[in-house]
Amino acid sequence: MKASTSSASTSNPAPSLGWAVTAYDKPCANALVGKVPGSTYLLAALNGAAYHCGQGGPWPWAGIPEGNRPDLLWGIEIDDPGVKVGTFTDYQIENTTRMVAALWEVFGWTDPRSIATHKCWTDGCHGGNTRPSPNLGRKNDTIDGAWREWPGSDTPAPYNAPWWRERVLERLSTGPALWDGTIPSRSAVMRVHPEKGDRPGDANLAAWRVKARLADLGYVDPGKVPASKRAPYPVAGLKAYREAQGWPGDGFSERVQARLFGKVKP
Ligand SMILES: [Zn+2]
Repeated sequence: MKASTSSASTSNPAPSLGWAVTAYDKPCANALVGKVPGSTYLLAALNGAAYHCGQGGPWPWAGIPEGNRPDLLWGIEIDDPGVKVGTFTDYQIENTTRMVAALWEVFGWTDPRSIATHKCWTDGCHGGNTRPSPNLGRKNDTIDGAWREWPGSDTPAPYNAPWWRERVLERLSTGPALWDGTIPSRSAVMRVHPEKGDRPGDANLAAWRVKARLADLGYVDPGKVPASKRAPYPVAGLKAYREAQGWPGDGFSERVQARLFGKVKP
């Protein structure tokens, strides 16, 4: 993954989208992660259907030879000028982590080096190569430390490869799903709402299902989901979830329910 062009700004949720799909005869990456929820784009699903990596490698551990190998690598562009730490939005960090975690599961990866930044490819850092790659220092637009850096620090720091690996592996280690697969009705959940419910503060199965689902998605500590299958309205977990969607004032609205569970159930 890498940060995008210097034309990226915060006034448009995905300012590089037009450039990403028109600058060359193929998109500049397989996916583009914009600034806010709803601005992530799949530009080219297939390996090799996008430009993104350029000259780099080899990656001996993966059997990938030196060269320009978009056919063997899948590239995520994060829409940002990419010149300093702190300008990625929380959504970009979260959604990039989720996307990489999904790719890890779909493709059955087992080696954390499968998660790499662009510099790992050009320079061979962070385990990419056993020595500096022939293309070391080829680029200069990275915020993943100095571009000419091999083998790279193993200490996770924004936004180097160990930092992304730590986030993705943490997300993957949440264990088996807690939610039982039944969508709770909104009316049942709202019954125990601390202010609007007719049994405020009480616990029930519907609120437990919301809490369990939030735990599966990483917004609630799984250890705090009661084995009794009854829970009070999960105020803090829902707040964190809504903020990540850009809907902080929403309560347990129809769109919150739809995004959490895939459909509205009154
Ligand atoms: Zn690296």
